[in-house]
Amino acid sequence: MKFVADGMLGKLTRWLRMIGQDVKYSNQSEDAELIAAAEKEHLVLLTRDLELYKRASAKGIDAFYVEGQTEAEKLAGLAARFGFSLAIDLNRSRCPKCNTQIQSTPKEKLADKVEKNTFAHYEEFWLCPKCGSVYWQGAHWKGICATLEEAKKIKGSQI
Ligand SMILES: [Zn+2]
Repeated sequence: MKFVADGMLGKLTRWLRMIGQDVKYSNQSEDAELIAAAEKEHLVLLTRDLELYKRASAKGIDAFYVEGQTEAEKLAGLAARFGFSLAIDLNRSRCPKCNTQIQSTPKEKLADKVEKNTFAHYEEFWLCPKCGSVYWQGAHWKGICATLEEAKKIKGSQI
């Protein structure tokens, strides 16, 4: 399952990539470009724009109207509809910035890419081979897990 997300869904896109979903995104995509990409590349169009949703659906494109206020609510809705897991495993994650699969990388190789304190504190790192971003389970990690746990609860309570 691959997705293309509209320009309003930048934050949700980053979350989906983190849990391993393949999401195409640009904050400058016009509606017509989104529809064309979905059609040509067989992507599911994710949108919070009801007009765009209707336009895409009328063309036979698989579109999903994203509801919910919090990221947890939005993720729960998507996971329920498309049946993917809300677990996070960085070995399966995509780079939130560029959608490339990140790779577990020995920390010795990253000494010049990570701040000294971070380098000293953590043992496991992941590198995006495309944009060079480095990831680790840092201060935000608990918050990320808490949001995903909340999403699982919301999903579980839906009929
Ligand atoms: Zn990247």
